[in-house]
Formats: sequence, structure tokens, C-alpha cells
Amino acid sequence: MYDTLIVGSGPAGMTAALYAARSNLKVGLLEGGIYGGQMNNTADIENYPGYELISGPDLAEKMYQPLEKFGVEHLFGQAVDVQVDGRIKKVITEEEVFETKSLILAMGAQHRPLEVPGEAEYNSRGVSYCAVCDGAFFRGQDLLVVGGGDSAVEEAIFLTQFAKTVTIVHRRDELRAQKIIQDRAFANEKIKFIWDSVVTEIKGDERKVQTVEIKNVKTGEISEQAFGGVFIYVGLDPMSQSVVQLGITDEQGWIVTNEAMETSQPGIFAIGDIRQKQLRQITTAVGDGATAGQQAYHYITELEG
Ligand code: FAD
Ligand code: NAP
Repeated sequence: MYDTLIVGSGPAGMTAALYAARSNLKVGLLEGGIYGGQMNNTADIENYPGYELISGPDLAEKMYQPLEKFGVEHLFGQAVDVQVDGRIKKVITEEEVFETKSLILAMGAQHRPLEVPGEAEYNSRGVSYCAVCDGAFFRGQDLLVVGGGDSAVEEAIFLTQFAKTVTIVHRRDELRAQKIIQDRAFANEKIKFIWDSVVTEIKGDERKVQTVEIKNVKTGEISEQAFGGVFIYVGLDPMSQSVVQLGITDEQGWIVTNEAMETSQPGIFAIGDIRQKQLRQITTAVGDGATAGQQAYHYITELEG
């Protein structure tokens, strides 16, 4: 029986683990993939205070290192279901059932598919969702990046170190990305833009992507252009499939909390990107984690008098 079990070891989960363990709670940190979460897909982080520039995997390592010292138990497995049995919460993986007095949900978010013909067929054969992972395979090629947010524009800049050209196709005529990231993209000679346009189909031969069909949403004009690779960054979906039955999510699946990171279920907290919130960043994930780690301590103390 854990005092607090945390599901997901991205920046939110690791920070919650640190705070809960330093309050002397018995803490388990369950991860279904690699600790660090989305930070593992980020080459350069420039907006985490204290570091002018740090890579995502390096920052993940720095967050992970101290946890063992404070007695956090690292558990491996993908949570598929969560059940509430009185005051006990049960987290169920395919192989085990973990019991805990309090539960912190930190499963984050993952890339949203574009849902156009050819996307699934050419996944890993020219279609990618991770420039850091796959960019180097596309040396000297013309690449297309879909989306207008921070991820699309930042990753387009990253890809210019390998690609011949990088074209950003965006459904509006104005980017959503932060101003500083936009300015860098506009100043980069390798980056071109296709405005007011969406991808309608990704086409190729039996081996890989060859062309992309693009539609101008204002004029209705459709064109087919040659690209060696398509990187898709059209937003995130919450990883909340294992907890929807608890009635703590909104219509899109984001978990609703108050400022103390409490959900509507007593003793269940949610933190980081999985939460319904304004700004999904490492800094805000870490802040949520600190609050929930501390709140779990108060919850246990009150529970046990
Ligand atoms: P995540 O990082 O998503 O971690 C969630 C963890 O939970 C994952 O390890 C996952 O494997 C695990 N998990 C999920 N479901 C389960 C389950 N059922 N059972 C067990 N484990 C599970 N932010 C910045 O501040 N600066 C940046 O420069 C920056 N660059 C970015 C670049 C890209 C390409 C992307 C995609 C994001 C970037 N972000 C950046 C956003 C930042 O990475 C996220 O806001 C942050 O990682 C969210 O942390 P989290 O802990 O909430 O979730
Ligand atoms: P995002 O901010 O939700 O942006 C998604 C982009 O994709 C938007 O421009 C959106 O267009 C477009 N889009 C959505 N659905 C589409 C569709 N079906 N077809 C075409 N375009 C579509 O997602 P994100 O860029 O992945 O960022 C996610 C979070 O991570 C954000 O909170 C972001 O700030 C954070 N992040 C931060 C950094 C950083 O700080 N350096 C880097 C990366 C990510 P509209 O603009 O028209 O809505």
C-alpha cells in the first residue's frame, strides 16, 4: 500500500514524487514508457529557468536523479484502469494491481493525428511526429511541417539543420506560436510558408512518401507538391483513457481540477499537461507537481488523524 502513487513520470510526475517523498510519504512512481515524458522529444529547451539552454533528455535526467535518494519506488507498467474502493484507490496495469491511499495522475498528453488519407499508411515511412527522433533521416530533402503552434514552428527550425527546405503549412494566415519562435522562423532562409491551407492527402509509392495534396481553405484550390517527409504537429490529446470512468474529465478528456490540483474524487489529484489548463509547459507541469505532492501529504495527514 502506497501513501501516494503517481502515474506518469514526465516533469509533473517527477516533481510530485520529489515533494511527496520529501514529506516522508511512501511514494510509487509508475511509468509505462521512458521517464521524462515529452521532454525526450525536445532538443533544445530555452525557457526552463536556471538553464540558458538544455536538451530535453538532459533535463529529464536531472529531474530523475534525486528521486532514488528520497526513496521513490520506480514502477514499470501502463495503467489501463483505475478503481476507487472506499478510501483505497487501485491502479491496474496489464500485470499488476497497485493500491494507494492517494493518487496523482500525471499521464500528460500525446500528439494528435491529422486524420487524412495516407497518414497511417506512411507512418514511419515519411510521416513523423518527432523531429528530434527522425529528423536526421531526412538529410538534403524538402520537408513539410503541418501546424502553426510552438511545436510545429520550433521543430521546423530544428529540421533546417538537416533538410534542404522546410515548408510550414498552416490552416490560417497567422501563427499561434510564441513571438520569439515565429521571428526565428521568418528569419530562416530555409523555411517557407503555405498559408490558409490544409493537408488533404499524403501520397507515396510502396516505399515512402512522395507527394502531399494541399487545399487552400479560402480559394478551394488543390495542389500536389513533392516532399520527402511530413512532420505533423497539430496539437495534443490527453492520455486519460484509463480514468474516464471516474467522471473527472471534460468533454475532450482533459482532467478538471481546482487550484490545489484536486479532482472531484477525494484523494485523486491531476497535474501537468493532462489537466484542463491554459499553458502546457515544463514550468507549469513542475508547479502543478509541487502543489499535488504537498496536497497529498495534507490529505494523508488528515485521513490518518
Ligand atoms: P508528459 O511529459 O506528457 O509525461 C507523461 C508521462 O506519463 C509519459 O512519460 C508517459 O509515458 C506516461 N504515461 C502516460 N500514460 C500512462 C499510463 N496509462 N500509465 C503509465 N504511464 C503513462 N515545454 C517547455 O516548457 N519548453 C519547451 O521547449 C517545450 N518544447 C516542446 C517540444 C515538443 C516537440 C513537445 C511535444 C512539447 C514541448 N514542450 C515544451 C511541452 C512540455 O514537454 C510538456 O508541457 C511537459 O512535458 C508536460 O509534462 P507532463 O509531466 O504533464 O506530461
Ligand atoms: P497547439 O498549441 O495546440 O497548436 C496546434 C496547431 O495545429 C495550431 O496552430 C492549430 O491551428 C493547428 N491545427 C490543429 N488541428 C489542425 C488540423 N486538423 N489541421 C491543421 N492544423 C491544425 O499544439 P503544440 O504546438 O503541439 O503545443 C502544445 C503545447 O506544448 C502548447 O501548450 C505549447 O505552448 C507547448 N510547447 C511549448 C514549446 C516551448 O515553450 N518552446 C514548444 C513546443 C510546445 P490554429 O492555430 O488555427 O488553432
